[in-house]
Amino acid sequence: MRLSTYLHFLRHALLLRLNPKHRVPLTVNVQILLRCSNRCLYCAQEHDAPTRLSLAVLKGVFDDAWRLGTRRIHLTGGEPLLREDLSEIVGYAKGKGFFVSLATNGFDAAKQLPALQRVDRVLLSFDGPFEVRERLCGRASAEASAQAVALFDEHRIPFWTTTVMSRPSLPHLDWIVAHAEAHRAQANFVLFMTQEERGGVRLHPAPEEVRALIPSEQEDRAAVRRLLDLKRQGRAVGSSAPYLEALLAWPDYGRLCSPRRSPLYRCLAWRSTCELLADGRLYSCDWSMKTQPGLSVVEHGFARAFELLPRVQGCRSCANSCCLEANLIFSLNPRTVFNWIRHLS
Ligand code: SF4
Ligand code: SF4
Repeated sequence: MRLSTYLHFLRHALLLRLNPKHRVPLTVNVQILLRCSNRCLYCAQEHDAPTRLSLAVLKGVFDDAWRLGTRRIHLTGGEPLLREDLSEIVGYAKGKGFFVSLATNGFDAAKQLPALQRVDRVLLSFDGPFEVRERLCGRASAEASAQAVALFDEHRIPFWTTTVMSRPSLPHLDWIVAHAEAHRAQANFVLFMTQEERGGVRLHPAPEEVRALIPSEQEDRAAVRRLLDLKRQGRAVGSSAPYLEALLAWPDYGRLCSPRRSPLYRCLAWRSTCELLADGRLYSCDWSMKTQPGLSVVEHGFARAFELLPRVQGCRSCANSCCLEANLIFSLNPRTVFNWIRHLS
């Protein structure tokens, strides 16, 4: 990340603190399509929906976002590598000057090599050793992620791994971190919170099978404690220590959101971040997707939709990894800020 981008974030983080009316979408998650090549057991998304944002709409969003002050675009899906125009999407975002990250399961990564070589950070879904990945996401996916890691190594594409902390992955936390170290990556971890019991919207695809994947509260806490230990030993755990401490202090792992404020950060979702879905609706964060109607960027344009977004109600702290890390950064939590500067520099 460029020095000017760090300074831009710092200036706006200070303005967010000093001026309660200040709003700027510093980082925007963009779901570029809903289709996915995988069928991960823990996924609650559609897999075959034809929904996608057109290249023209995306370019308009990027133009507006840059003008408003966005400096990071995170591309998600479904599986973003399934977009045949991914090179154009990434090229346009990079041409504007954004820091671009992309979340992928690694499917057919070689076909998208030119686009991946322009991305600043690839976030690869990674559940653990081959047999765990095979169990959770299928053999083809386990093979795809191994091939993607080899490709990233060969072409020196900077990547991190993201592990959903399902029960089959928990015994392999040390292995996942060591694997990240062997590939000059960082390992990030998110709580398994996509299902009904965890504040999600539906169970998919087989409730009993999925329920068996959800760790007990005790297992979750032991895992977060172990990650904190590894982090304090200087191992390749990308997630910041305050993020892990906030998870450890989280009162009820069955709930994603709480109306109580965290002592570690303020929720700045409505003011500093937003999420654009593949159908063109804009939201402040995951919680607002469940509580508010989205605003269409196709109808309003991105700038106006962001301006019209209603303030998020009923939630002041969460255990959602992206939201939590962003809130810690933009609240200027010093250890989280230092953590990400160190990993991005
Ligand atoms: S790769 Fe992601 S979007 Fe695709 S099925 Fe798995 S969890 Fe769902
Ligand atoms: S605390 Fe998290 S989930 Fe809750 S409103 Fe803020 S960003 Fe959204």
